[in-house]
Amino acid sequence: MENINFGIDLGTTNSGIGKFYQGKVNIFKNPVGFRDTLPSVVAYRNSRILVGDKARELISVQPENVFSSFKRKMGSEHIYAVPAINENKTAINFSELVLRELINFVGDDKPTAAVITIPASFDTIQSNATKTAGYNAGLQEIVLLQEPIAACLAYANLQNIPINEDKTWLVYDFGGGTFDVALVNINNRELKVMDHEGNNFLGGLDIDNLMVEHILCPVLESELGISDLWKQIVGTEDSPYKKLFFELLYRAEEAKKELSIKESAFVELDIDSKFIELEITRQRFNELIHPKVIETITLTNRLLQKNSISKHQIERIILVGGTTYIPYVKTTLQKEFATIVDSSIDPTTAIIVGASYYAGTKTRQLSTSITDEKEVQTMLNDVKLAYEVNSQDDDELLVALVPNEFSGYYRITRSDGGFDTGLITFHSRFTEFLKLIPKNSNFFNVKIFDKYQNLVYEKENLVINHGIYNITGQPLPNDICLEIDDSLGTTYLEKIFRKNDILPLSKKLYKTISKPILKDSGEKLIINIVEGRAETSPASNLCIGYLEIKSEMLSANLLKGTDIEIDFEISESRDLTVNVFIGAIDLEITEVFNASAKQVSPSKIQHELENSLINVDEELLSSHHQEYSPTIDQLNDVRLEIIDLLRELIEIEGDLVTDRIYNIDERKRKVFQIYDDLVRRKHLLAEIDNYQTSKMEVKESLLLKPNPRIEGLFNKVIKNEAQFLNSNQLSLIKSKTKELDKISNEIYYQEDESYINLFYFYAYRELNEYADEKLARNFINGGEKAIAEANYKELRGIINGLYSLLKEKPKNYFDDKDGTLGLK
Ligand code: ADP
Ligand code: MG
Repeated sequence: MENINFGIDLGTTNSGIGKFYQGKVNIFKNPVGFRDTLPSVVAYRNSRILVGDKARELISVQPENVFSSFKRKMGSEHIYAVPAINENKTAINFSELVLRELINFVGDDKPTAAVITIPASFDTIQSNATKTAGYNAGLQEIVLLQEPIAACLAYANLQNIPINEDKTWLVYDFGGGTFDVALVNINNRELKVMDHEGNNFLGGLDIDNLMVEHILCPVLESELGISDLWKQIVGTEDSPYKKLFFELLYRAEEAKKELSIKESAFVELDIDSKFIELEITRQRFNELIHPKVIETITLTNRLLQKNSISKHQIERIILVGGTTYIPYVKTTLQKEFATIVDSSIDPTTAIIVGASYYAGTKTRQLSTSITDEKEVQTMLNDVKLAYEVNSQDDDELLVALVPNEFSGYYRITRSDGGFDTGLITFHSRFTEFLKLIPKNSNFFNVKIFDKYQNLVYEKENLVINHGIYNITGQPLPNDICLEIDDSLGTTYLEKIFRKNDILPLSKKLYKTISKPILKDSGEKLIINIVEGRAETSPASNLCIGYLEIKSEMLSANLLKGTDIEIDFEISESRDLTVNVFIGAIDLEITEVFNASAKQVSPSKIQHELENSLINVDEELLSSHHQEYSPTIDQLNDVRLEIIDLLRELIEIEGDLVTDRIYNIDERKRKVFQIYDDLVRRKHLLAEIDNYQTSKMEVKESLLLKPNPRIEGLFNKVIKNEAQFLNSNQLSLIKSKTKELDKISNEIYYQEDESYINLFYFYAYRELNEYADEKLARNFINGGEKAIAEANYKELRGIINGLYSLLKEKPKNYFDDKDGTLGLK
């Protein structure tokens, strides 16, 4: 058995690679400058590709051929034009180059498998994009690990902090491009991420931009007599000031770093042979970055609130990411949280270290040479071995049970030869303390012999990791849902997996088809899987799997109500596999979904913001009279944030250079979520009301006319009432209400007389609503006759005829079999 061992931090600004070996992590040095990390920058010069520091240096010479911060656009549609080679590239292409360069640091023993870290907030598309980059770089096997977990693994393994009881840690990762904060539960064996918050577009780079916009540009404007310099800089892709912009960004960043150790920093600029010098004080700097720091504190508080964790329950805050070098960040955190703010491990390499520890416990799946843990001999059945895979002790107890009063010998050896029990007799069971090599993966071989010393059972490569903290698993960052169409035309989301479920996951769902699909009719059945929040509308979520079953694929017609079985699977590294099985026509389709791209459009965001502003205003107007409405203050906060975002959208109009649009998009999603949470309770209560009304209706009808069959149906629907009414899931309660309404319908149409009402519903329509007026007239006359003769069978046929003649069908009638899977 072989472990992955290599860990890679593929960062927005800096990346690095390490290897776990005999209980320790070795970080491979960047030969340039002998540093631990490689700037995530790629440049093209003539036919040469430069990566890292050399690429970075080119920025002031040929900025149009230098690319950085592309991780922020991982999984997006963004295309980078590279003039030097006259080609287009994507964030995946650039990431591949960074990974190749990192792999080069390693020397001869190059990795073919690695753990690569991703921000906890990366969705499926971004995760898949990361893996694609890794495969393109030549890795055959990739395991993704969320960065906050990597950070905790580094701290837990490196710092001998005694952890005897459950503790909650907060990982505060403020890097170059992203901010991530995670709540981690840690006990003496395992780490588990409870929840996380973050913003993919908030980092050190934003601070550099702020410094250029608000400190450097105003000085240059007055010194050089240019107006609106910032606007001109960000205004066009090929601004005459582009070179200057990168120069300024570079100078700002240098000054920022200096301010982490000094009270003030000087920026010297030599522009158009004019020498400009300015001083930035820490005070001024702190004021400038204050809103950004507050943004991180707000996200952190939200995370605590959401999880009902109070500040003093946090045992320590772990600082990760280069931006946490800024003293103001640290002091603000200290003031705000009054707990240990731990920065004892280099915040720029902690992720590499953690990733490598994890890689040291992860077995390779595509292992070629060495056999996996396995039972070799099976002459003895049902041998049970019990032991802990991860241990903090010097030796770990192994318990073996052999059935059927077996008597014989056992022998246990450790693969390095340092431990050997020799042959020991036993009867039925044995226990043995296995000596462990500290801070390492220990491989044991267990053999059982019969009385005549013939080998009857063997287990190879039984692994016990010593002193290495492990994680229970990685949580899903968002809900994964299936889009459902009900026959009334509303679409909603049904949860397949919930946020913070531990990967890997699998689930089987049974659905029925909502409309018939005839063979070769050109129609199709759509299965749409989205990532986001189950309580929200499908449109505000991210599509991660889209499957079409076209009529050409059918061997026979698909009737409405046909059962369809769908299996969903998400691997630890976020591959989504969907298997669809339609038993009626023996059709089975399996698809694995990989990276694609998502879109961010300013006009779409504007539209969404404006719409939501209308909703918030309506809510504000009505909130005085309604119970459970959000408070005016809460709504006003939401309103202000929406207006602020709209204002920023206008401000960045024509900004093709910075990433602010992505920050806005992210903040937009956050504020919509808050709003959703505020009004959800109200909608939930309204839906519970609907449910109760529908329930009363059925109950009354049953009292008037008892019917055991219908009563059975009714009891089935209300069976787990307490559970689903408290589920917080609007769609679930809605579906129950609909089932009750269906029962009501059924009761109603059990009475022949009910068809008289239905008939008049059609008879009183305008004749021109029917496709064939003459035929409709005949039907109506026939219907009146049938009523006079009390011939209800005839009447039902006539109603069917009228229904089929209607040009526009009314909803909800003949809603007999309620399908759930949509037809578009
Ligand atoms: P990422 O995880 O995004 O790759 P890092 O954790 O390496 O990023 O952090 C990079 C960011 O940290 C950059 O924006 C850089 O300017 C900033 N940074 C690095 N050192 C310092 C410092 N001494 N003071 C302030 N900021 C710093
Ligand atoms: Mg990082």
